[in-house]
Amino acid sequence: MQATTRQMQAQKHIALVAHDNCKSHLQRWVEEHKGKLLKHTLYATGTTGHLLAKQTGLPVNCLLSGPMGGDQQLGALICEGKIDMMIFFWDPLNAVPHDPDVKALLRIAAVWNVPVATNRASANFMIESSMMDKAVSIEIPDYEAYLAERLT
Ligand code: PGA
Repeated sequence: MQATTRQMQAQKHIALVAHDNCKSHLQRWVEEHKGKLLKHTLYATGTTGHLLAKQTGLPVNCLLSGPMGGDQQLGALICEGKIDMMIFFWDPLNAVPHDPDVKALLRIAAVWNVPVATNRASANFMIESSMMDKAVSIEIPDYEAYLAERLT
């Protein structure tokens, strides 16, 4: 498929997700970067989001809990171009019941070229990037062009 571009604004829409064993790590990371995260719009799966909002005082748009469909809601927002990046501390040491949803979320983020950080180090690199505070253009699949070609 050909590529087109999507513009991310300076104020990013950031998705935050953490599996249960990783929630305290994400909370600590968010506390450490609270000043920077304040400038952006935050989304999160249900339990992660409510805990973060309570613990850090940051405004978070909370979706359903991941295993109850929150991962899929996030995937849908990614497809619609409404999420610019995702910080997803998934648990590499324990199985989760909604593994298919986790895979689907990571897959759809890859499809739409959404930057994903899956641990502290990658999240640090992401948040420290100079791209965080300016408008950035990213490549995405050009589905409309593909469809137009198919319909001719
Ligand atoms: P939760 O979901 O924030 O509701 O715990 C996270 C996930 O497992 O996707």
